[in-house]
Amino acid sequence: MSVLGLTCTRCGAQYSLEPMFFGCPACAAKSESGAAALTVAYDYQAIASDLNVEDWGRAGHGIWRFDALLPLRDKAAQISLGEGNTALMRPRAVCEATGLSNLYIKNETTNPTWAFKDRFHASSVSMARSLGYSRVTASTTGNHGASAAAYCAAAEMDSCIILCHPESSMLQRDMIALYGGHAFVLEDRFQYLDTLIREHGYYPSTTMTPMPTGTPFGIEGYKTIAFEIFVQLGGRVPDRMFCPIAAGDALYGPWKGFSELRALNLVDRHPVMHGVQPEGCNPYVQSFRQGRGDVIVHPDPSSIALSIRDDTGGPLALGAIYDSGGDATDVTEDEIIEAVRLLARSGYLVEPSSAASVAGAIKAARAGRLTSNDTVVCLVTGSGAKWPEVMAELADRDAPVEPSWDEIKARTGLVGDTS
Ligand SMILES: *Cc1c(COP(=O)(O)O)cnc(C)c1O
Ligand SMILES: [Zn+2]
Repeated sequence: MSVLGLTCTRCGAQYSLEPMFFGCPACAAKSESGAAALTVAYDYQAIASDLNVEDWGRAGHGIWRFDALLPLRDKAAQISLGEGNTALMRPRAVCEATGLSNLYIKNETTNPTWAFKDRFHASSVSMARSLGYSRVTASTTGNHGASAAAYCAAAEMDSCIILCHPESSMLQRDMIALYGGHAFVLEDRFQYLDTLIREHGYYPSTTMTPMPTGTPFGIEGYKTIAFEIFVQLGGRVPDRMFCPIAAGDALYGPWKGFSELRALNLVDRHPVMHGVQPEGCNPYVQSFRQGRGDVIVHPDPSSIALSIRDDTGGPLALGAIYDSGGDATDVTEDEIIEAVRLLARSGYLVEPSSAASVAGAIKAARAGRLTSNDTVVCLVTGSGAKWPEVMAELADRDAPVEPSWDEIKARTGLVGDTS
């Protein structure tokens, strides 16, 4: 068996691969530190001995072409909406602005629900099904819940309850409803999550960091981002990767994937990992600057980038940043908006949270911290199309309706006789 079970990320205690949604019991029993998140452990030697990396190059099976490195053993429980297989592209206007010819975006906006969260739920909801669950819940600022609901639909779950942040976009809540889930808007979602799990038999398809209540199986889906990049770069890993982070799994997931490529002896190095946050909500950045092992709580977080506006994060992503020799950096609202615009001018419509990774790379390039032949990958996590209110704010809507030719000429610089 190549999947060994669950391991505590703090004390290393080992458990079998069972529903464990409240973190490490051994750590929880030690009152001073509280519970810690669990992670899936594998026997890499056994996997390496019959791994055929050629298979990874074949598209069309969602995340499941990497099944040797995913926790699900029951192939019949595999659920896919065709997630992953996303393009690694050089956004023209961003490359020009930074002078970096090898700056790529991993364009996760083309996932089935237009965000990288689909990799999470493909793994997590499949595990829920194989563990016998028919009810699923999740907490969300929008993307996570919409994706959970889509995968619950694919898995034919009996019930899907999504607890939504008050500012989650109306469109995302409509998506949840159309997928057959129930969306409820709640300021304090944790207590409801806890009750649904403990008293009503719900499987939490929600992240285990920063709080160890949730599933350890979703992060396994995020690892496939690293595996795909490795294939797309022709069997190499990038020099640097920039990830927009909230809970931190957007960085820890790919990092775990890159670490596994080393454990499998497929590469002998790893990328430097950069976590990017908005200045108005930068708990990782403050914690990194102080050299802390845990992530502080940022009071009253504010940013246009709602998907990464969490007031705290978990130790796993912070540890990955330290281990990779990377950093946590913050960007201003203007820098985020500039990145949204540069990506749009390159042909990619992304939400502000997604653009934060690119804003971080632009900032590092301008500060002279990147060299021109560095291979840099920015994780672009989700589409702008799901945030119509935000797009309306950023787009210039003052164009007149039924304009005269003079007005069209004045706005566009069009010359010549058109009448
Ligand atoms: C969820 C999300 C993130 C952050 O992911 P974490 O795992 O919480 O760090 C970033 N961007 C988008 C678009 C997201 O939906
Ligand atoms: Zn423990």
